[in-house]
Amino acid sequence: MNNSFIKIISIIALTFISLSGIAQNKPIPEVNWDELNKTKPWLATELYKEVSHVKTNSTSKIPSDAMSLFNGKDQSKWQKPQSPIVTGMKQFDPLIRTLKSNYNGEPSEWIVENGQLIVNPGKGHIASKRAFGDIQLHLEWLSPKAKGKEGQKYSNSGVFFMGIYEVQILNSFQNKTYANGQAGAIYKQHIPLVNASLPPDNWQTYDIIFMAPKFSDKGTLVSPAKLTVLHNGILIQNNVELLGPTCYIGTPYYVAHPSKLPLVLQDHGDPVRFRNIWVREL
Ligand code: MG
Repeated sequence: MNNSFIKIISIIALTFISLSGIAQNKPIPEVNWDELNKTKPWLATELYKEVSHVKTNSTSKIPSDAMSLFNGKDQSKWQKPQSPIVTGMKQFDPLIRTLKSNYNGEPSEWIVENGQLIVNPGKGHIASKRAFGDIQLHLEWLSPKAKGKEGQKYSNSGVFFMGIYEVQILNSFQNKTYANGQAGAIYKQHIPLVNASLPPDNWQTYDIIFMAPKFSDKGTLVSPAKLTVLHNGILIQNNVELLGPTCYIGTPYYVAHPSKLPLVLQDHGDPVRFRNIWVREL
């Protein structure tokens, strides 16, 4: 190492040390309250807006501005869905173009027992009578313990936002399956960040924020559907963007649909149980 190089390094180091010394010594200006009180400059950054007060109580756990979709007594808020079960875009593309916000379906044939809404295997999915766009959803579900069942066949159900975008419900406690198909997956699109599953036969919670996709008048996508999911209070999907409707086969893409569509619960052939379902429209 030659002398001139050492000199240059020393000059740079000394300059840096002296500059940082100056920075450290820079005095912090005193706050002159008498002067500030003349103009009250803090007011410029204080926003006033009526924020509605939402009440909750520890027994019902339903916020005062939420809509209950299952009161533990009857399934009057539900009916059979307008759409058949489909597997991919070949069916979705024409089907979505026929979906309506309001329609009269046949009554739900699921079972209501002990304050629970139970899948009646073979009787099909059920859809909320009311249609929704952007929502906060709370639901409690239980995947029953079952001998000899594994993978996707172990107590499978699901919640389909707008009837076509699924958050998976499955026993995913010591039950291997593809990661983008386990509990809390945005089915075949997003793997949950962690597995927050409790063992089967335990009540579990989903708290989900769903933002509906937005379409232009011409039917082009303006913003995709987005989902945030907390499973048993743990964040497992953080504002993820969906690629399109939930496809069992193939790659999804968006097809324009109404801004509000019913929520659908899945009959996957297993007696999965639900309770305490409520929605807040956003
Ligand atoms: Mg499912």
